[in-house]
Amino acid sequence: NVGLEVPDKQVKSVCPYCGVGCQLTYNVKDNKILFVDGRDGPANQSRLCVKGRFGFDYVHNSERLTKPLIRRSDVPKNVDYIDFDPANPGTIFREASWDEALDFAADGLKKILKENGGEALAGLGSAKGSNEEAYLFQKLIRTGFKTNNVDHCTRLCHASSVIALLEGVGSGAVSNPMGDVSNADVIIITGANPTVNHPVGASWMKNAIKNGTKLILLDPRRSELTRHATHHVAFKPASDVALLNAMMHVIIKEDLTDKAFIESRTENYEELAAHLESYSPEAMEPVCGIKADKIREIARLYATADNAMILWGMGVSQHIHGTDNVRCLISLCMITGQIGREGTGLHPLRGQNNVQGASDVGLIPMVFPDYQPVTNEQARHRFETLWGTELSDKVGLTTVEIVNEAYNGNVKGLYVEGENPAMSDPDSNHARAGLAKLDHLIVQDIFLTETAYYADVVLPASAFPEKTGTFVNSDRSVQLGRQALDPPGEAKQDLWIIQEIAKRLGLDWQYDSAEPVFNEMRQGMDSIAGITWDRLQNESVTYPCKEEGDAGSPIIFTDSFPTQSGKALLVPAAIVAPDETPDQEYPFVLITGRQLEHWHTGSMTRRASTLDALEPEAYVAVNQRDLLSLGLEAGDTLKLQSRRGEITVKTRIDDLTPAGTVYMPFCYFEGAANQLTNAALDPDAKIAEVKYCAVRISAA
Ligand code: SF4
Repeated sequence: NVGLEVPDKQVKSVCPYCGVGCQLTYNVKDNKILFVDGRDGPANQSRLCVKGRFGFDYVHNSERLTKPLIRRSDVPKNVDYIDFDPANPGTIFREASWDEALDFAADGLKKILKENGGEALAGLGSAKGSNEEAYLFQKLIRTGFKTNNVDHCTRLCHASSVIALLEGVGSGAVSNPMGDVSNADVIIITGANPTVNHPVGASWMKNAIKNGTKLILLDPRRSELTRHATHHVAFKPASDVALLNAMMHVIIKEDLTDKAFIESRTENYEELAAHLESYSPEAMEPVCGIKADKIREIARLYATADNAMILWGMGVSQHIHGTDNVRCLISLCMITGQIGREGTGLHPLRGQNNVQGASDVGLIPMVFPDYQPVTNEQARHRFETLWGTELSDKVGLTTVEIVNEAYNGNVKGLYVEGENPAMSDPDSNHARAGLAKLDHLIVQDIFLTETAYYADVVLPASAFPEKTGTFVNSDRSVQLGRQALDPPGEAKQDLWIIQEIAKRLGLDWQYDSAEPVFNEMRQGMDSIAGITWDRLQNESVTYPCKEEGDAGSPIIFTDSFPTQSGKALLVPAAIVAPDETPDQEYPFVLITGRQLEHWHTGSMTRRASTLDALEPEAYVAVNQRDLLSLGLEAGDTLKLQSRRGEITVKTRIDDLTPAGTVYMPFCYFEGAANQLTNAALDPDAKIAEVKYCAVRISAA
């Protein structure tokens, strides 16, 4: 440490990036983070990945918003912002006082509420904020805007997993923690690249494999984990249902099911078994591209393991058949009885650091906190009593629907807190046109995001280390993030901003910190009712924790499921083709995703100096064979076109990506992958098919 500055304080917090939920310490001097250390948390045991360790100096970036901004009357919204410099907001906005900006923001909402009613308003909250922020934000939309039109990025990541899990096992969260892979004899990882997206989680997986756990990797792309896999099963993109149904067909035909478990713990097995009759490995081989013998081998390996666990990511969920994909994973787990013990179960690898918590506290349009349906009279009554006002029983619009309805003129006012739909929504040219059509757009953020370019008013908010609150990781662990820094300039805490808007809409809220918000949440959410603020000062607690003093429940479903019957429902799934398949005009499949050094739309990591230096520019990954056949070379600038847009980016040779398929991270504004993606929705979960669309490639 020679030459390093000595911190004047150390603050215990959690990582702001992925759902692993690593605990860390901010080492601070003079309101500046000097460096970050890993802490001995249950999910990381002092480990951190490159983002957690080096991705913190975005908070000190000179582009931080430090004053409220109001759009200049001479700047139209629907212009091409590709060369806009977020360091110079004066070309779009003028500075304002907090009072002027808040009054302006609230007046625009009140005008729409009066003239068009609450259904013309909507809110997009954040999975990166605390539970308390997400809870207050959805409460504001429901009680102040008088609508359930409130959603967040879960809609674009695991909405299909949550819908299928609620339907099948009565709970939308994981059954076993990620680290439980060390107790599994076999793990299936499908549609996920943990080395990139959950790096510390991946380190536990690799440790388990070293100790003898067998890995079945189901994924059309190869990844770093491939070399650790016993079997890498590179099925054709979007043929998950065919492969998983064929595996179940084998398990039933070869009598490898757990009959006692099926009998005592599940419903609808006969219907599932009858449905699977036609899904023999031979019949599915041409559909999924995997040899029948290989399907048999992996089915036997999973079914006969003493303990086997399934983990999955957005390669499973982001399809128009995402809910069906997860239904198959649930059935596979249930017919083999691989749940309710250490080293077994179902683990959807949650993306954002608090996407689990934001969903739990009701930042979704169909349910109140703790997944209590808005259509259920008893649930509505519970929250009407708690919040002291009447609530709508109409299921609200989801993320993509909100922007679609903005485009159609039916949603006129939108409050965006910490999300960036101009980058993260599918078919982003359409999404941006929708944002530009809004009569009134409020953006609350720490940077002038691409979404803020369309705003009428911008409210400068606090970054992760500038506030205190609770967060829920992928393991259902509730953990405390603590304030280490003061926000810069006139930037304010998000809880304060949300309350100032609420006050101007006539709501009398008096929360002076996160603690009273958390205590109110406990009154409406049985799952965390037993967790006290004091206890969180010393430890993280895994819900369900219904009574004070409960130890918490890292492994659930040990003897029943929280469904009405107490049993798991097996739901058969049939093959559904992708919404758009390659053809002569658009012959390649585009898969989008993340990369190790960047996070989602890049608003934080692209302003973190080390991460930006490691990965500074947009690229498309193309298989060498495809590049050769097109007469192109690595480093060439390519034009990528879909039916929805075109972009130009440099190419990299990437033999992880199979021929006929190209891969792009979606974090780069200058080569925005989502300008190409398809906004077609899964009918159950309303998640978009951003993992699969047809494109063509040519030299730029
Ligand atoms: Fe942060 Fe996830 Fe990396 Fe842990 S694994 S340090 S939570 S990004």
